[in-house]
Amino acid sequence: MDIFSDQRPTRADIDLANLTQNFHSVKNFVGKNVQYMAVVKADAYGHGAPQCAQTLEKAGVDWFGVALPEEGLELRRAGLTRPILCLGSFWPGQVDLLIQNDLTPTLFQMPAARALNAAAVAQNRMIDVHIKIDTGMGRVGVRHDRLEDFVRDIKSLKNLRVDGLMTHFAAADDLEENDFTRLQIERFQKAADIVAKSGLEPTYFDLANSPGAVAHKDAPGNMVRLGGILYGLGGDVLPKNIAKPELLPVMSLRSAITLLKRVPKGESLGYGRTFFTERDSLIATVPIGYNDGYRRSLSNLGKVLVRGEFAPVVGRISMDWTLVDVTDVENVQVGDEVVLIGRQGANRITAECLAASLDTISYEITCGISSRVPRSYVNRAIG
Ligand SMILES: *Cc1c(COP(=O)(O)O)cnc(C)c1O
Repeated sequence: MDIFSDQRPTRADIDLANLTQNFHSVKNFVGKNVQYMAVVKADAYGHGAPQCAQTLEKAGVDWFGVALPEEGLELRRAGLTRPILCLGSFWPGQVDLLIQNDLTPTLFQMPAARALNAAAVAQNRMIDVHIKIDTGMGRVGVRHDRLEDFVRDIKSLKNLRVDGLMTHFAAADDLEENDFTRLQIERFQKAADIVAKSGLEPTYFDLANSPGAVAHKDAPGNMVRLGGILYGLGGDVLPKNIAKPELLPVMSLRSAITLLKRVPKGESLGYGRTFFTERDSLIATVPIGYNDGYRRSLSNLGKVLVRGEFAPVVGRISMDWTLVDVTDVENVQVGDEVVLIGRQGANRITAECLAASLDTISYEITCGISSRVPRSYVNRAIG
C-alpha cells in the first residue's frame, strides 16, 4: 500500500517541556543566587526563538540574550517583556530600533556609544548599556588592559547608564585550559575594580556561558548566560567526567519514506556514483537534503532510524533528497517515519553524535537546520 502524505513530512519537533525541564535542571545545579539569561540568538540555535523564549519566560528566566538587535525586535513583536541584551552590540543605523524596543546593547566602541548617546539626548532618555570586556577571547570587547580610557569616555556620555559588565570565556569547556579561564576571571575582577573606582555602579556582572556555568561554578558574577545546555546540547560542549545537570534533547528531526525501490546488486546510486549496491537492495528515498541542513558531508556516512533500526545513508545527499539502504529493516513501507535526529524505539541519534562525525559541534547542527524545515512545537517531555 502506498501512503502518499498530505504534506512533505520533513519537520523538526521542538519539545518545549524538555526545554523547561533543562532550565530547572540547570538552575538546581548552578544555584538560585544568580540571575539567568537565556541566550536565544540564531533563532534559539535553530529551535525557534519566539516559542522558546515564551516557554523560558514562563519558566522564570530573568533576561534574554540575542546576537543582533533585529533578533531582539522579533522577541518584542512576539510579546516578550523581559530585558533583552544584544550580545553583538549594534550598528549605528540601528539606534532607533534599540531605543524604541527597549533593547539593551553591549558596548565596546566609542563611535557606537556616541551615536546611542546622541539619540538618547535627542529623545531625553536614559539608556542602559552593558560594557563587554575582552579578557582573552580576542574577539569583540574592550581589551582588559585598555579599560580606563574607555570607562572615562563612557562616563562623559550623560544619557548612558552602565547597567552591566561582562566578558566571555574562550575555553571554559576544556579543563586543561583551567589556568587560562582563571586568568580571564582575574582580569575580569580587575576590570570590575576599575569600573567601581570610576564611580560607575553596574547591576550585573556576568562571565559564564554553558560550560562556564557548569564547570566553573566558582566564577564570580551574579548572572550566567546560557544557550546550548538549555537546548539539551551538553554532550560535546561540556567537559567530560565532571558533575553536570541532567539534560534532555529539545530538537528532533523527522521525515518519512516517500519511495521504496528494489535495486539489483551492482548498480550505482546518486550523484557522482559514489555508492554501488553490494547485494540486491531495498532503497528508500527520503525528502530531506542539504538545503534542509542535513549536511552533504553525511553522504555514505550518516545513519537514520527506520522502524527502530539504524539504516545507512547511501550515495550523495542531494539538495532535497537522501537515499537510505533499508534492506535489513523488516516490513518497511512507504510512509514509515525516518528519524535523522532523535529517538525512535530503543535507539537514538543525537545532534552531538552527528556533529562528531562531521568534525563540528552540536550547535552548528541545530543552527544549520534551515528555515525550510517547519518547526513543530510539542510538549512530550521525553528523553
Ligand atoms: C552565545 C553566547 C553565550 C551562550 O553560550 P553557550 O555555550 O551556548 O551557553 C553566552 N555569552 C555570549 C557572549 C555568547 O555570544
